[in-house]
Amino acid sequence: MRIGHRLVRDDRVTTHAALVARAFGAEKIYMTGIDQSVAKTVYDIGKRWGGEFELEIVEDWKPVAKNWKRSGGTIAHLTMYGVRVDTAMKSLRKKNDVLVVVGSEKVPREAYELADYNISVGNQPHSEIAALAIFLDRIFRGKQIAKEFSGGRLKIVPSEKGKVVQDNT
Ligand code: SAM
Repeated sequence: MRIGHRLVRDDRVTTHAALVARAFGAEKIYMTGIDQSVAKTVYDIGKRWGGEFELEIVEDWKPVAKNWKRSGGTIAHLTMYGVRVDTAMKSLRKKNDVLVVVGSEKVPREAYELADYNISVGNQPHSEIAALAIFLDRIFRGKQIAKEFSGGRLKIVPSEKGKVVQDNT
């Protein structure tokens, strides 16, 4: 789940947060404050390249986080102030439903309190997209990049030179 959205400045960043979540193994992203154009871009990419990834626009991040905990899920909030990602992984990998929370601007104090884990990817400020990518890479131990996306119109055949694309239409 990504909290917040700074209008205009964040349009591409917002789309990239969703695309990185999709490409690197997340099942779904919740986003606040965005309009339907980001959802449409992500939906169109799913149609073209396959997979079951979902994007849900929510009014408020808090009920999502509270319901997640109520139904037994775990919340991992990514913040440069948190414990080191590799320290948290040992116990986090044993959890079933993990909601990863990232911010776009200043994250409210309550997010830190609701989180079961506040996790840093290094203790320098950088980007929610980079933090999310590294978090997903760690939790899936790198296996997520070989994930198959079924049902798409197009599929890439990895090649040393040029673009090899299988068209399933
Ligand atoms: N100034 C903002 C603050 O104090 O919350 C930082 C916003 S930063 C541009 C956007 C998001 O990137 C943060 O909310 C956090 O989720 C993520 N992020 C940035 N640096 C991080 C780090 N070193 N470790 C983990 N997450 C980080």
